[in-house]
Amino acid sequence: MMRRLAPYQTGLWLAEYVDIRCQLCRVFRSMSHSQILPAHHLRFLNIRQKIAQRLNSGLLCAHCHHSIAWLPEAFEVDIAAGTALSIQAATYYDYPIRQATRAFKHHEDMTKLPLLLHVLRQLPRPHGCHSDNSVIIAMPTTEQRLVKRGFDPVSILAVQLSKHWQIPLWHGVKRIDNTLSQQGLTRAERLRNLDNAFALVEKPPVKRLLLFDDVATTGASLQALSRALYGESTGSLTTDHHVSHQYLLSAYALAHGSQS
Ligand SMILES: [Zn+2]
Repeated sequence: MMRRLAPYQTGLWLAEYVDIRCQLCRVFRSMSHSQILPAHHLRFLNIRQKIAQRLNSGLLCAHCHHSIAWLPEAFEVDIAAGTALSIQAATYYDYPIRQATRAFKHHEDMTKLPLLLHVLRQLPRPHGCHSDNSVIIAMPTTEQRLVKRGFDPVSILAVQLSKHWQIPLWHGVKRIDNTLSQQGLTRAERLRNLDNAFALVEKPPVKRLLLFDDVATTGASLQALSRALYGESTGSLTTDHHVSHQYLLSAYALAHGSQS
C-alpha cells in the first residue's frame, strides 16, 4: 500500500538520512540516532525501524544535543479534588527551541521541524504504556483556526511522537469553535476561556490517555482537556457502580516555559 507523504515528511527524511550536518549549528556532523536513543528504546522497534535507526545519520551534533538535552522536571495541575495531572515537557521553552517553535507554528517554517523532532524524542515513552493500552490525544484545534492557518502544528508534532512511542493517536475530542486564543491571557482568564472548550465525540478506546500539546506554559489548556476527559470518566461512574471507567491521564509537551 502506498502511503502519501506530506511535503514536510520528505524534508524530515532528508534531514535524517541524507544531510549529515547538525540541524541547529549547521557546522558539525550530526550524531547517529542510535547514539542518542537509550538502548531500552531500541528494544521496542520492529526490524524495519531497526534498519532505519542504523542508517539514520541523526539530526544534531553532540554539542548542540547536549545544549538542549535537559528534561525539565514534571509539574502538576489539579483536575479535581485529590486528582492532579502531571505534565512532562521534553525541554524548556528557551533559545533555540522557542525561536524554532515560533517559526514552525506561526510561519510554517518546516526547516525547524527536524530540530523539534530531535527534542521530542527526548521524551521517554511513559512507563507501562504501549499500543494496546494507551492512546495519544493531541490538543485539538478549532476548525476555524485550522482554516485560517491552513495547518495544525500540534498534530504534526503528535504524529512524530506517535511514531517515537509506537502508540496510536486518538481523535475523539473536538475543540469547540468559540474559544479565543490563549495567548496574552492571565491564568484565570485562560481557565474561564477554556471552560467547556472540549467535547468528546466518542468514548476513549483504552484507559491510558496521554495528552499532548506543543508548548505548556501554565498548563491551563492541558488541564481543561484533562477535565473534559475526567468529567467523562466520573460521569460514567454514576451510571454504572460496578465498572470503573476512570482513565489514567498524563500530559506531555514539547516545551515548558513562558510564552512572552
Ligand atoms: Zn550542532
